Amino acid sequence: MGTALVTGSASGIGAAVRKRLESQGDRVIGVDLRDAEICCDLSTSKGREEAVREALERCDGTLDRLVTCAGLGPATKRASLISSVNYFGAVDVFDGLLPALTQGAAAASVAIVSNSAQMAPLDDTPFVQALLDGDEAKASRIIDDMDSPIVAYMGSKHALGRAIRRRVRLWGTARVRLNGVAPGPVDTPLLKASLEDPIAGPPIANADLPLGRLGRPDDIAALVSFLLGAEASWIHGSIFFVDGGNDADIRPDRY
Ligand code: NAD
Repeated sequence: MGTALVTGSASGIGAAVRKRLESQGDRVIGVDLRDAEICCDLSTSKGREEAVREALERCDGTLDRLVTCAGLGPATKRASLISSVNYFGAVDVFDGLLPALTQGAAAASVAIVSNSAQMAPLDDTPFVQALLDGDEAKASRIIDDMDSPIVAYMGSKHALGRAIRRRVRLWGTARVRLNGVAPGPVDTPLLKASLEDPIAGPPIANADLPLGRLGRPDDIAALVSFLLGAEASWIHGSIFFVDGGNDADIRPDRY
């Protein structure tokens, strides 16, 4: 029992995480464009600042759990909107709320990344570098010039995973755990929109998942809940794939 903040709480995975945390007795502060305690636009620095400021007021400076789920999929037309929400909409929230988490009881945080983050060689691209450098204007320029929502999606999730791992010492010293969960295709409005997209849709529709079904939002929420809990007290800085075997099937010799 404690206070948790969940971004993207109005739909899909974020809504399932919210439900689980509430069923465990947490007070959940939701952040989303609509239908949330804090309605704001995480694609802009102003919206992110508002979210952090209002969250700090609502939790009175003490937060026990944080989960960043808000995200846009590759069916989004403007590529830079994807990277602004998926990368900066997560990183700015977890950095802004670290001081409140340091006041929490056994505080822990999870960011939702994606198994697609490892499916293209994006490591040294200028786009990923600009994200990791915190240069939103440069990252937006690069990805809008490329005009590739898919690269924006995979690259923003790749950078987010690295942003988690880069914080392991600072957050560990603060005794706040931070991990990532990387889902495969999960049956949510984001996936439905992706399947209808002429470019993003076919590879997802043709994915032959080893476990033979799409993920359900609660498949992801179950792991998130475990990672936030006492039994995960030595798990920090890790990224967990929850994808019905999708990543192992595609890249069996890498992990
Ligand atoms: P969803 O569309 O059901 O939920 C995403 C939520 O984010 C929505 O409620 C939406 O309003 C919110 N959001 C979007 N833009 C926002 C903004 N600018 N400001 C504030 N909130 C905003 O999608 P989902 O599938 O539940 O996705 C949750 C997370 O999981 C995302 O980060 C997504 O990238 C990731 N993910 C999803 C899948 C999948 O197949 N569904 C796979 C891998 C990763």
